[in-house]
Amino acid sequence: MTTQFDIIVIGGGPGGYVHAIRAAQLGKKVAIVEKRPTLGGTCLNIGCIPSKALLSLSHDYHKAVHEFSDLGIIVGTPKVDLKKMMAFKDSVVDANVKGIDFLMKKNKIERLTGTGSVKANGIVQVTDEKGKTQELTTKNIVIATGSSSVDLPNVTVDEKQIVTSTGALSLEKVPASMVVIGGGVIGLEMASVWSRLGTKVTVIEYLDRILPGMDSDVAKEMQKILTKQGLIFQLSSKVTSAKADKKGVTLSIEPAAGGKSETMTADVVLVAIGRKAYTSGLGLDKVGVKLDERGRIIVDETFESSVEGIFAIGDVIAGPMLAHKAEEEGFILAEMLSGQSGHIDYDHVPGVVYTNPEAASIGKTEDELRKAGHAIKVGKFPFMANGRARAMNSVDGFVKIIADAKTDKVLGAHIVGPEAGTLIHEVAVLISFGGSSEDLARTCHAHPTLNEAVKEAALATYSQALHV
Ligand code: FAD
Repeated sequence: MTTQFDIIVIGGGPGGYVHAIRAAQLGKKVAIVEKRPTLGGTCLNIGCIPSKALLSLSHDYHKAVHEFSDLGIIVGTPKVDLKKMMAFKDSVVDANVKGIDFLMKKNKIERLTGTGSVKANGIVQVTDEKGKTQELTTKNIVIATGSSSVDLPNVTVDEKQIVTSTGALSLEKVPASMVVIGGGVIGLEMASVWSRLGTKVTVIEYLDRILPGMDSDVAKEMQKILTKQGLIFQLSSKVTSAKADKKGVTLSIEPAAGGKSETMTADVVLVAIGRKAYTSGLGLDKVGVKLDERGRIIVDETFESSVEGIFAIGDVIAGPMLAHKAEEEGFILAEMLSGQSGHIDYDHVPGVVYTNPEAASIGKTEDELRKAGHAIKVGKFPFMANGRARAMNSVDGFVKIIADAKTDKVLGAHIVGPEAGTLIHEVAVLISFGGSSEDLARTCHAHPTLNEAVKEAALATYSQALHV
């Protein structure tokens, strides 16, 4: 094997592997170092993909139990075969990670399994499982080592009774009860999975709302819908400790503002209070790569760190911890390192919560714009008034479009409803071209589609929706 490269990528997640593919397509000699036996990072192995497999299966089961008979579909009593469900989830992960292996080979990218560290500028050391090391030299180093879950003091994760999302994706039986600490995206997705399969789930959130960062209308609607589905929310509360024993887990919970502590018990506790940049073992301090106060690698607008020739992308730098953000960064960095210009619009990175219904968001929230004193127009349209949503028996939620009061330029869109994560992308395209709500409303939309709700919400920003 050659040991001289144009680019060595450390970390084989969506940031790293996408960068490697694009750089190879642009003629660079690339190696990728990954410490897991499989490529794909958090996203493919223990994140986006397995969680969506379980969300999809548990949604089907929930429908079979709670909706089918009302809709004239008569089946025997549905049962959960968790082993089979997990086997399907694992097969989806397996197919996806094998797909990345294929892409590495196809693009002639050198794949190294082991822990990468930066020995010096231009030198990467790879240590394999047995401790054997090798050194590779390169013009550029790209760090894409991702993130890991944030720990909570006095709550020791064992991935059996007290779990992170990784353990929650592989439980061996459906627990009777679960406490989810954190009402963010990952917490709510996992809470939905297990609640649909029959677990009594309580979500404890420090703030007085769920889904921090999302539009507050969306958060309120989601809480209402998920409560109807059986989730229990305890807001403005903090977990101060959790102890596991043979009987289960006992948690101490206090009001966020301080006050009397109460105890709660659950079979399983999921800690989902956020993720932090992962730079452990990279040897960055030795070469002088600077980190910010939250441990993320500081980079400039070309993703170069404080050390020339060392770049970083994805969850390990600032910005939303999302797979598509990591991918975009990987892609444009490859273009930049190949003498092209690259561009990412951080104001317009879509965010999706894959519950049922989904919640999706792009651009500014109404709260942000009002706080900034921006004059805006807001158009809202409920799925209850959309023919297709009714035909799908999925009428919860709404589309909300926010436009500039003077120019009509769309500044944000926030959707709770069926396939919100797909619908958001027509607004994403519109926003990226600087379109107005009138552009959106005057675009002919096929009937009957869920997208008609987007068109109607756009119409409602400057005129009147038709079907309400
Ligand atoms: P990662 O995917 O974390 O990859 C980093 C890789 O680097 C890892 O494989 C790690 O093993 C490797 N590594 C670390 N250090 C070294 C080293 N020294 N040497 C060699 N290898 C190393 N995002 C979405 O956009 N949509 C979703 O639906 C979604 N769902 C999620 C669900 C869950 C449960 C979780 C946990 C996350 C989810 N995310 C989702 C977030 C998403 O997974 C991350 O934003 C994304 O994976 C970040 O990509 P990355 O390439 O920066 O890092």
